[in-house]
Amino acid sequence: MGEKGPSRRISFILIIMIFVALGLSIAAFFFAADAFVGQDSIQGIYFLMMGIMGFTFLTYMLIQTRKKTVKLLIQPQQVATTILCQKCGFKNIRDFQRGDYILKEAEECPKCNEKMLISSIYREVKEEKG
Ligand SMILES: [Zn+2]
Repeated sequence: MGEKGPSRRISFILIIMIFVALGLSIAAFFFAADAFVGQDSIQGIYFLMMGIMGFTFLTYMLIQTRKKTVKLLIQPQQVATTILCQKCGFKNIRDFQRGDYILKEAEECPKCNEKMLISSIYREVKEEKG
């Protein structure tokens, strides 16, 4: 099991897992209560432990999901600058730097050493829902 595997389609599986864990935990608590009523304290404790573990897992999962969402919201908007060589058409995309404007002369083209021009500046929209 990878600890920090970047998975984008995890949310659906996560929801199912949360529901399964919730169901099992509630069931475990019911079994525990039933066992305690039936004077079977060992079995009661066993089910109670299962229920607590289930809820711990559930809380952990919810915290993880929330962390991920917060991280996505905090993430600043990325602005990219496209630099184009007028001579050979070489295109380079880099992060926006202060003072960048369209048609501004940029660094030299790595292919033909001609001065390149900034052709466009745009905001990289990264929409990730789920
Ligand atoms: Zn060039």
